[in-house]
Formats: sequence, structure tokens, C-alpha cells
Amino acid sequence: KWSGLDQLQLGDRFAELPESFYCRVQPQPLKNPHLVAFSTDAASLIGLDPSTTPQQLSEYFGGQRLLNGSEPLATVYSGHQFGGYTPQLGDGRALLLGDLAGGDGQRWELQLKGSGKTPFSRHGDGRAALRSVIREYLGSEALAALGVPTTRALCIIGSETQIYRESIEFGASMVRLSPSHIRFGHFEFFYYTRRPDQLRQLADFVIRHHYPHCSEAANPCLAMYSEVVERTARLVAQWQALGFCHGVMNTDNMSILGLTLDYGPFGFLDEYQPDYISNRTDEHGRYAYHQQPSVAMWNCVCLAQSLTGLVKKSDLEAALNRFQPIYAVAYTEQMKRRLGIEGRDVQDGALIEEFIQLLEQAKADYNFTFLALEQAVAGEAEAITTLLGDNQRVSDWLSRYLGRINNNAADLMRQYNPRVVLRNYLAQQVIEPAEQGRFSELAELHSALRTPFLEGANRYSQPIPDWGKNVSLSCSS
Ligand code: AMP
Ligand code: MG
Ligand code: MG
Repeated sequence: KWSGLDQLQLGDRFAELPESFYCRVQPQPLKNPHLVAFSTDAASLIGLDPSTTPQQLSEYFGGQRLLNGSEPLATVYSGHQFGGYTPQLGDGRALLLGDLAGGDGQRWELQLKGSGKTPFSRHGDGRAALRSVIREYLGSEALAALGVPTTRALCIIGSETQIYRESIEFGASMVRLSPSHIRFGHFEFFYYTRRPDQLRQLADFVIRHHYPHCSEAANPCLAMYSEVVERTARLVAQWQALGFCHGVMNTDNMSILGLTLDYGPFGFLDEYQPDYISNRTDEHGRYAYHQQPSVAMWNCVCLAQSLTGLVKKSDLEAALNRFQPIYAVAYTEQMKRRLGIEGRDVQDGALIEEFIQLLEQAKADYNFTFLALEQAVAGEAEAITTLLGDNQRVSDWLSRYLGRINNNAADLMRQYNPRVVLRNYLAQQVIEPAEQGRFSELAELHSALRTPFLEGANRYSQPIPDWGKNVSLSCSS
């Protein structure tokens, strides 16, 4: 039932939109392409044979050959970057290769990232550094395994094409899979260039393919917007509960499907630090960890603005006002799972809030603390007092918490607290050998991230070396 790359037949669904939405561009081949990583999980989504050879993958996705039916294109968008409007962005280093139906009928778009210049590249070279696609590959496959909505990564192709970043590096490509790569910024582009007809076509396209149930509503576009707000609020609630910091929440990186999109200088919290900034370029902390919910809502305001020609303002406002309550409920739900709390109690919110205060005060490792709590639930309080401190406040909180949970709490917690978290230093430890041509460490880390809840000590849940704590990364990639 699997297909090989030769048998895949791509559709050109995006071209239902007029030509003002995209340019046709051919990928520029990478020099001596070779396979670096292949996600058989992602392959199975599109029915691709998991035993597809490295040779074939590198031919097709190193830019040498096109899949059947593929007519690559780069799409145009704009967006608010760090609060300011940039009138034109677009796929500057990625091409939409086409789309195809997976086994379950879901259609997936294949995007080739790092495939060379497009009319939207502006100053860049259209390439991606190996380290940056490794981070995206691991990041998206890790969040998928944690149950967070995200784009997926099919494979990474390395090469001998030299690119110039902070130093000379090798260019690589990555195949990204998503039901859609449409961003808030696509809507903003047609709004700010005053093209209401195209904006309408874009909304119709998104509703037709991705929100078909909204077409029954009195105003389908409002129904779609309302659902985007909801999905975005829920997504960020999951990020917060996991300690995931996106790093560049510009509106051009916000998915119209509420998926985690565009993995750049992202990071997971090590020590609990609410103002943690994963992106070194973000001097003022606009996208710091604790800002993410409000920034996500701000981004939903930008999307609302671009829909003002299609939906009454008061309706958009009403939909937007659902963000905060949806977020709050979703966040509490996620945290209760991690804490093994079932049912509802008026004190639950306060219990969670105080837990966060204890974490902050002790600068305890965010994800290890949940694992230590599991031990406390099993009667072993040593790990948790080591992390949170051995004092009255902690023991008061602990006894209230232990009084709140049921007998099966530890079992519940084990389903939601990852044993392996993609900390920046772990990614760094596989990037270095990969840059030397050794990919086994990368495969090993990927394999651990696929099953983050699997029991048993492994080398990824060791204490973090000092050099590896709360690393921030630059945008250059
Ligand atoms: P990002 O910060 O990844 O969201 O990218 C912002 C914009 O810059 C997008 O329009 C990208 O296509 C473009 N871009 C980023 N890196 C490059 C590059 N190396 N070459 C050309 N365009 C790029
Ligand atoms: Mg982007
Ligand atoms: Mg990017």
C-alpha cells in the first residue's frame, strides 16, 4: 500500500488561486546532495514507502528531480515583524512542490525549504543552514509526538553547497509537510495592498479546503476567524504548559490552521524563568515565554484587521474576545494533566498558580519538576524538595496538592510529562557531529523524541550541563 517517490502524483491545489498569489520557481540543485535524516512517521502520513532509499530522497529533494505533477511555486505574504508592518515578505527560501492525499484522505502540502532564491528572497540567498533545518526537523517531530499541532518534517538533505552566515556553512534542504502553509500574513498582504477581491478568494479557498464546516455558517468568514482564534489560543496553551518558546511570533509565522509553524530560534525552558527569551535578536523580549499568550492574541487582532472588509467589526471583536477565556481554560486543563489532577475544584487555579510561583522562586528546572512530582506522588519527596526547596511554603503546597489528587495520579502524569525534552543543548550535541558528516546521534535523538513518554532513564533526562542552560539562539539560519 506504500508508494515510492516515483509513484507519487502531486496536485497543484494552490493554483486555484489567481497568479497574483504566487510565482512559479524551479528549485536550484544542491551540490552533492545526501540524506541526513528521514522521518518514517512523516512518510507514513503521505503514504510514502518507509524503505525509500537515501539515493532517491536526495535526488528528489536535493533539487535534481521533480515529483510527478510538481509545479513548484513561491507564495507572497507580508506580516507584522516585531510589531512593525513589513509590506512584502513571501516564500524567500521555500517552494511549495504540490499536494497529495494521505491514507486517511487528509491532503498534505509538500514544501521544500532551502531550495534557492525566489522573487521574495530580497537580500537572502534562499538557502538554509544544516543546523537550522536539523532544529526544525527535531522541533516539529518532537512537538508532534507531544500531541501539539504542528507542521511536520519529512527529511533533511545535506550538501556541499557553501553558504555564508556567521561563518561559511553547508546548505541543506528540508521537506516540510502541512495541510496548509497559509499564514496570517497572506491575508494581511491582500488587505494592505487593497485587493478585496483577492482577499475574498483567499478566505473562500481556506474555508473550502480547511474549514468546510464553516461554509454552513451565516458568515463563513466569521466562523473561520472564530475557529482560528480558538485554535491559536489552544495551541499557545499547550506551548505554555510544555515550556515551549517559539521565539519569532511574527504574524507571517502564524498558521491559519493554528499549527506551530516556522521553527527558528525556539527553545524549551530549562530553569523556570518566565521572561526567558529564546531568540537572541529579540532584545526587548517581545516574544519572551510569558508574552506568548498576549502576543498570540495581538496577532489575532492583526488577522481581524485584515478581515474587516469581509466581516462586521463588532463580530470580529466578539470572536477575538473569546481568546482569553479559551486560553485560560485550555492552559488550566493542560497543567492539570501534567499534575495528575482530575475533576474540578475551585482551588485548582490557585494550586497551579502557587506551583508556578514555587518554580520561579527556586528557579527549578521546569520539566524535571513534573518528574520529581511524580516521585512525590509515589511517596518519595526528596527529588521535589531538592528542586523546589525544603521549606514551609513548599511542604504546605505539597500537602495540599497530595490531598487534591487521586490514587491514579502517577499513571495520568506519566502520559503527559515527557521524559525527553528537546533542550537546546541536546540539539546542539547532534548538530556538531552532523556538521562533520555523522548522523547517528541525530537519528538517536530523533528516535527518543518520537516516544517522549516512554519509561526508563535514558541519557536525555540527565541533569543539564551548566553551558547548556537557557541557551538563546540567533535568527541567522
Ligand atoms: P523567518 O524569520 O524565518 O520567519 O523569515 C522571514 C522572511 O525572510 C521570510 O519571508 C523568509 O522567506 C525570508 N528569509 C529568511 N531566510 C532567508 C534566506 N536565507 N534567503 C531568502 N529569504 C530568507
Ligand atoms: Mg517565517
Ligand atoms: Mg524561518
